[in-house]
Amino acid sequence: MAELLVLIDHSEGKPRKVSLQMLNAATQVAESAGDTVAAVWLGEGGADAAATLGAHGAAKLYTWDSADAHGYVTLPQVEALQQVLETSGAEVLFFSSSNHVKDVAARLAIRVDGGVITDATNVEVEGGKISATKEVFGGDLITRCTFADGKKQLVGVASNAFPVVETGGGAPEVVSVDVSLSEAAQASKVTSVEKQGGGDRPDIGEAAIVVSGGRGLGNEEGFQLIEQLADVLGAGVGASRAATDAGWYPHRFQIGQTGRTVSPTLYIGSGISGAIQHRAGMQTAQNIVAINKDAEAPIFQIADFGVVGDLYDVIPKLIEELEARKS
Ligand code: FAD
Repeated sequence: MAELLVLIDHSEGKPRKVSLQMLNAATQVAESAGDTVAAVWLGEGGADAAATLGAHGAAKLYTWDSADAHGYVTLPQVEALQQVLETSGAEVLFFSSSNHVKDVAARLAIRVDGGVITDATNVEVEGGKISATKEVFGGDLITRCTFADGKKQLVGVASNAFPVVETGGGAPEVVSVDVSLSEAAQASKVTSVEKQGGGDRPDIGEAAIVVSGGRGLGNEEGFQLIEQLADVLGAGVGASRAATDAGWYPHRFQIGQTGRTVSPTLYIGSGISGAIQHRAGMQTAQNIVAINKDAEAPIFQIADFGVVGDLYDVIPKLIEELEARKS
């Protein structure tokens, strides 16, 4: 029985939501192929998360319990994954489609003679290989991709493409991995890590609710209103490119073709026209609410619920109503 590996994205000792979603996707694939799921945790704290990972489908946990995993730029993770792939004999690795992990996966693919598919929204087994669905050209086309014969299959899974499902599995077998890093992997040391803006709000790639603002806000201060709405809802804050280019909100919160892809349960866009490049990053949201004073704005074509009105009238009333319902 082969193992299907899942690289666990984690933060402050806890697996990120996308990791539990990937475990669900991997469990479905592994069951159809008669394989088992093994989680891979790079960095400290993996053993403490074993029970959670087991409860979501991991039968085994490879853990490299070392600060070195994130102590140098990118390569330690590549070398650790190469080692786990080679010693486990696994043919398939699932990873999250964040920019950092895509970088790791691309470098890993070169070393292990693998192929890479990123941003997969569905995964199946066809002819003994993974077949993945992904959007291309800003969401205009949906493609099915697979791997050339004999290649290791590195599959980047999109956030929120799969639900989190508890399988009721017990604690996984924990296998400690010891990686001796090459000189090259220790060449660029991480000396400090600083979180930029965003406060304690959830990351927009993972948030169940995303509230975003565009040029219609008129100025930087407008984002205070967006943040206020986000905080009432426990949401992450996003922005259109017009807003980030204007310097009203940091670029890392930009949603769209050249920004982040979000797929929340609820997306609320205010003062955003809904250009195709913006839609590419949010149109898979389960429920889309648009607030725009122009009834002809293209965003209304994909909105489940639209409010035609001035956002400076609508949002304060919405906040008031939400607060009243909370108390
Ligand atoms: P606008 O299109 O100017 O829309 C503002 C909206 O606000 C209007 O619909 C207006 O009716 C409404 N409005 C104004 N005042 C109010 C008010 N008081 N109350 C309510 N509504 C109001 N864009 C992205 O967002 N993400 C990307 O990743 C991205 N990538 C791109 C890549 C390329 C190669 C190119 C060419 C463009 C890209 N763009 C991207 C830019 C994109 O084409 C649009 O220009 C941009 O999305 C527009 O942002 P916006 O909707 O905030 O502004």
